[in-house]
Amino acid sequence: MKNQTAVFIEKEKDLWEFLRTEFRNVYPHGSRVLIKLHMGEPGNRHYIKPELAGKIIDLLKDNECEPFIFDTPVVYDSPRNNPGDYLKVAADHGYSKEKLGVPVIINDKNTATRGEHMEYGLASSPLEADGVLLLTHFKGHMCSGMGGSIKNVGMGCMSKETKGAIHTGGEPVYADGCTECGACVENCPTENIRLDNGRPWFDVNWCPGCSNCILSCPVDAIRPKAAIFDRLLSEAAVLAHKKFKNVYAINVMKGMTKLCDCIADAGPVLVEDTGFVCAPDMLTVDIASLELLKKKTGREDIFQEHNKVSSWGHVREAASLMNRDMKVEIVEIP
Ligand code: SF4
Ligand code: SF4
Repeated sequence: MKNQTAVFIEKEKDLWEFLRTEFRNVYPHGSRVLIKLHMGEPGNRHYIKPELAGKIIDLLKDNECEPFIFDTPVVYDSPRNNPGDYLKVAADHGYSKEKLGVPVIINDKNTATRGEHMEYGLASSPLEADGVLLLTHFKGHMCSGMGGSIKNVGMGCMSKETKGAIHTGGEPVYADGCTECGACVENCPTENIRLDNGRPWFDVNWCPGCSNCILSCPVDAIRPKAAIFDRLLSEAAVLAHKKFKNVYAINVMKGMTKLCDCIADAGPVLVEDTGFVCAPDMLTVDIASLELLKKKTGREDIFQEHNKVSSWGHVREAASLMNRDMKVEIVEIP
């Protein structure tokens, strides 16, 4: 496969022979291949199922690789915020060495790396593996509009501390010059903003730092604590991705819920199942998935319609950091 070409495969039965060849080209025999995926918050029903991961594991083993599953603990209040309890959740969801025959590893070990806006704790395991397979459930997300492969790296391959810092860094601070137009109030997905005394106040509810208020303000009256969320997320993702050896990315466009797999009730499924998108990197796979979503729905950005935040913002930021344009070729296997 050439760079910046993605392959769309509608039916699962057509995926396996295609991936067999791809894995042969990407992962040398004997490679320790880290499969990065989210194993689902308790109560969530749309995370990638172990049956699918199991078939991918078998293909990697057929290619004489040593696959293993990896994720990092989350920063918010959840059983997934420490390795021991996350492993129990993973096992409940069918992800265990007993069921899949490969190690399931959760840890917060990380390597500090300086980026433009902050120091990021990049998860060490993906940096040390011989190959990384980004296996991502493509769905909506409260802070990035869409959660795909870039998010799987930019948040999912970061330390707990960095995850918190990315969210906090995108939080708004009032600067000056509010005209009381109301755009920030209207575009806040958590209804966190009230206007009072000629300016916005951000103290009504919980703010996850999506920065949409900042992006919505026509007069730059609000600024982020560090940088807008899309930029911080992409900066983290690109720093990590460029250090990975032998990367491959698969987006699973099924059960595409309004919100992400971190949430027990991820809201309604917004689009009917579409298929699988395969590409040599996180950017190509996400651009192709968004283009396919547009084609499927006939809408510019169905996730933004529900989450208020553009799905394209962090993808454009990643493209700019990777010195890439937003063009990809999509080869369809019907
Ligand atoms: S738009 Fe986003 S960053 Fe701004 S207050 Fe609302 S939740 Fe927080
Ligand atoms: S979007 Fe900007 S100008 Fe409009 S109400 Fe909010 S802070 Fe004020």
